[in-house]
Amino acid sequence: MPATIRVENVSRIYRVGQQERQALKAVSLSVGAGQIVVLRGRSGSGKTTLLNCIGGLDRPNGGYIWVADQEITQLSEQRLVQLRRQQIGFVFQSHALLPTYSARENVDLMLRLTNAPRSKRQERVEQVLQLVGLGKWMDHRPHELSGGQQQRVAIARALAPRPAVILADEPTGELDSATGQQILALFRQIADVEKATILIATHDLAADAFADAVFHLADGRLAIRNA
Ligand code: ADP
Ligand code: MG
Repeated sequence: MPATIRVENVSRIYRVGQQERQALKAVSLSVGAGQIVVLRGRSGSGKTTLLNCIGGLDRPNGGYIWVADQEITQLSEQRLVQLRRQQIGFVFQSHALLPTYSARENVDLMLRLTNAPRSKRQERVEQVLQLVGLGKWMDHRPHELSGGQQQRVAIARALAPRPAVILADEPTGELDSATGQQILALFRQIADVEKATILIATHDLAADAFADAVFHLADGRLAIRNA
């Protein structure tokens, strides 16, 4: 299976004053279409840095990253913006939905950045909201939804432009464990149905059951746990 994400020998060094902190050390991994990889590791081990480098929000100091056949570490800021819109969906711990917008409007926001005509957008918005189980909640605003439902809207928003890759940083961090399990099951469904490649950084041990592979980061170094 061709890899949708390929990371080769990536390092990231942060300089804070005179100090250097190596957040990623020679990290390599590859993930194929429709696969879910879980990234585990204690706080400060480099999970967010790795997701940000793959998502084009941060740049490595060394190494290469391919996202959907495109090597991204040397791209201009403008091309990175384009890549993020077209190929990458982000899901964070805190969903950051617009409070005065309905679920439907929050999801459409991302699609409006593409040139898709209104009717096509509406069709896709309804399709992804159905997929995440919010068919009956499309016209509700975030405060009328539960935490788990709000995270579902955020996932639908990330998914709407049909990105090749979804990057989820602690997506169940603010949810109770039963709701977290449902969100993880939803990621599995999205990988299977939409063939999206999903990388989940999480402390949640329940995530392993939904993953094709689990990687462990310790002090910026990556080791595979199981595959
Ligand atoms: P995790 O997501 O696993 O908690 P991070 O990727 O956030 O880990 O952080 C990895 C290391 O890099 C930590 O030592 C952290 O302090 C450091 N770090 C992360 N972002 C920055 C930054 N913007 N400036 C300086 N150091 C940073
Ligand atoms: Mg983090």
